[in-house]
Amino acid sequence: MLIIMSLDSPRHDIESVKNKIASCNCTPHEIPGADKLAIGITGPSDKLVKEEFLLLPSVEEVIRVTKKYKLVSRQMKSEDTIINVNGTVIGGNNLTIIAGPCAVESRDQIFDIAGKLKENGINFLRAGAYKPRSSPYAFQGLKEKGLEYLSDVKKEIGINIVTEVLNQSTITAVAEVADILQLGARNMQNYALLEEVGKTQKPILLKRGMSATIEELLLSAEYIVSQQNFNVILCERGIRTFETATRNTLDLNAVPVIKKNSHLPIFVDPSHGIGIWDKVSAMSMAAVAAGADGLIIEVHTNPENALSDGYQTLNIKTFTELMKKLKELAPVVNKKLNLSTNE
Ligand code: PEP
Ligand code: MN
Repeated sequence: MLIIMSLDSPRHDIESVKNKIASCNCTPHEIPGADKLAIGITGPSDKLVKEEFLLLPSVEEVIRVTKKYKLVSRQMKSEDTIINVNGTVIGGNNLTIIAGPCAVESRDQIFDIAGKLKENGINFLRAGAYKPRSSPYAFQGLKEKGLEYLSDVKKEIGINIVTEVLNQSTITAVAEVADILQLGARNMQNYALLEEVGKTQKPILLKRGMSATIEELLLSAEYIVSQQNFNVILCERGIRTFETATRNTLDLNAVPVIKKNSHLPIFVDPSHGIGIWDKVSAMSMAAVAAGADGLIIEVHTNPENALSDGYQTLNIKTFTELMKKLKELAPVVNKKLNLSTNE
């Protein structure tokens, strides 16, 4: 259920609505909006009586939310969620590009790549310090050392960091360096981790699990938002199908479906989505055409020698060519590329 009040409702009226919600064993969530104040309700609905809320002062409307996910639904909040990361705005009509290697491999590697990306106007560097790998024998990331290099590159080059948090025990260390915490496909249904990152106020990039439905992705986002962290970016990164010609099947259907059903920004990862570097550009363009709010793309100065995911990684030349094409495409779909070189 959703309680709509006017933005200038007196604080004591808002508090009495929230107290009534709490007395029904439910949790109230104030949802920031441009013209109305909405109070979302989560928890068991058996004691909630619509008419009783309508009697309270300053309450204008009471709406039943029919979806299983509540706080992330468009029914709960009709305007797009906008996330401001150190002055760069994500969502709305902004098209945001996150780029960088799959993993931090060395100090020189990450400085070299970050410098080249910055020249392209990129505001967000992706790179894993902790890597979730299918094989326990594969490169697992530089871990604490990787975080240290990311922290240095952030300070010296001036670029926001997007890096993955694998488990609860490293949240604090990763959150100290990350401007956006990445939650990987394999962890999409790690509910304890979702709740913990929800307790931070860091923006979260939540990747869709490879076997998860769109509804399951939105329910996972709900775990984060229900802990009062509204700064969630969803990410389509390809799902497992019967197809073997590509690493995954990039489900671009998810983009307009999520746009319709949720106010959260939706990004696309074409690198993991198709898994073949020379097709990443085509799928990036397709994702933007479908309405994506941003892309996360694997880029390396030397993909042939990358320690992970080299085959799906663009080099600086192919990435620069893609950026040129995206600059032309963005205005066609009413988007503005938010590059540091525009400002
Ligand atoms: C990654 O971004 O390098 C990664 C491991 O992605 P995913 O969780 O989507 O597999
Ligand atoms: Mn990768």
